[in-house]
Amino acid sequence: MTLVEALACERCGRRYAPADVEYTCPEHDGVAGILDVRYEYDAVSDELAGVLDGPTEDLWTYEPLLPVDGEPVRLGAGGTDLLDAPALGDALGVDALVKNETTNPTGSNKDRGSAVAVSRARQQGHDVVACASTGNAAASLAGYAARAGLDCRIFVPADLPEAKAVQPRLYGATVLGVDGTYADAYELCREVSAERGWYNRNAAMNPYAVEGKRTLGFELAEQAPDADWVAMPMGNGCSLAGAWKGLREFERLGVVEDTPKLLGVQAAGATAIHDRFVAESDDSDAGSRTGEREDGGDTTADSIDVGVPHNAGKACRALAESGGDAVVVSDEAIRDAQRLLGECEGVFAEPASAAAVAGIRAAVDRGTVAPGERVVTVATGTGLKDSASAREAVDDVISVDAAGQGLPEDL
Ligand SMILES: [Zn+2]
Repeated sequence: MTLVEALACERCGRRYAPADVEYTCPEHDGVAGILDVRYEYDAVSDELAGVLDGPTEDLWTYEPLLPVDGEPVRLGAGGTDLLDAPALGDALGVDALVKNETTNPTGSNKDRGSAVAVSRARQQGHDVVACASTGNAAASLAGYAARAGLDCRIFVPADLPEAKAVQPRLYGATVLGVDGTYADAYELCREVSAERGWYNRNAAMNPYAVEGKRTLGFELAEQAPDADWVAMPMGNGCSLAGAWKGLREFERLGVVEDTPKLLGVQAAGATAIHDRFVAESDDSDAGSRTGEREDGGDTTADSIDVGVPHNAGKACRALAESGGDAVVVSDEAIRDAQRLLGECEGVFAEPASAAAVAGIRAAVDRGTVAPGERVVTVATGTGLKDSASAREAVDDVISVDAAGQGLPEDL
């Protein structure tokens, strides 16, 4: 038995039993009525002591707080390290920590959402799971589907980095390269999944995928209860909103006394959430959708190259509730930060993750983050899937013959 009390519509407040709805509130068109899973928090509180006493093996350590009945699908997501990052901190002028999500089983934080969504799909008797993705969610869903014995269909923009298109196929998924933007792939996935009865993992509409993302917040609360800031990249906005829900729940349950401020970071070519947050903060143009790009974004950070983010509202609420802020960084700053993170701490993160590091620097420069504050940067995904873009951030190989000719004297 799960401790789920109801699914509540974020737009109209209607509440549903888990058996009565699959994705969004039926009262609205499309994905307007995102559902939020609510729990019996008194009962959760009783279960929590047992959870917090032991080590966090993986995200299923938090099973009493997750909406899955029966045996979950296990591949090792969650329970990732929080690394002290003194050299990175010196470079940025803060007390830095790195939450290393690159070590999740398929290489990104998306495994947290997939673990819960695929467990739910199997529990509900689905044979096929599907999603649209800029890459990491595709690999993640495919890996978890393989583990669960389910078929998997992936919709990706056709210009996806090669390695990101290979990984899901290796897990046995069928990959459909859509001639269009991420938004086009998303809509096609939604329509076809509804027609053919496939289980749609997309976190923008699947309430269970978001629940897995909360576990990042649980771990941050446990590992860094004294953090002043948590910096995260924002694409669709789901991961940041999910982590915030987890942080807030652990505060509400008395696990921690306080929550950190969130620093949401976007690339200069895809700024819709940042722009909306700034507009709402100014109160001059509240609720505006400035910055959306129907033709897709334009940045080297493909994982956050989202022109029309589906969860911008949730992300902006999370930023505001936390007392945090949003910043935008250039592709050049992202490349510099990718190398900085690698050189300083031995973490090879993808450009989207490096954006969070660049965002800390930008926030310090403009006085949002004070020097010396304790800042966790979330390295959301590995850089190994896209070495072509990392190539632009590194030096050339030095050619040396077998006798050592060409070896620099000053090395
Ligand atoms: Zn509703």
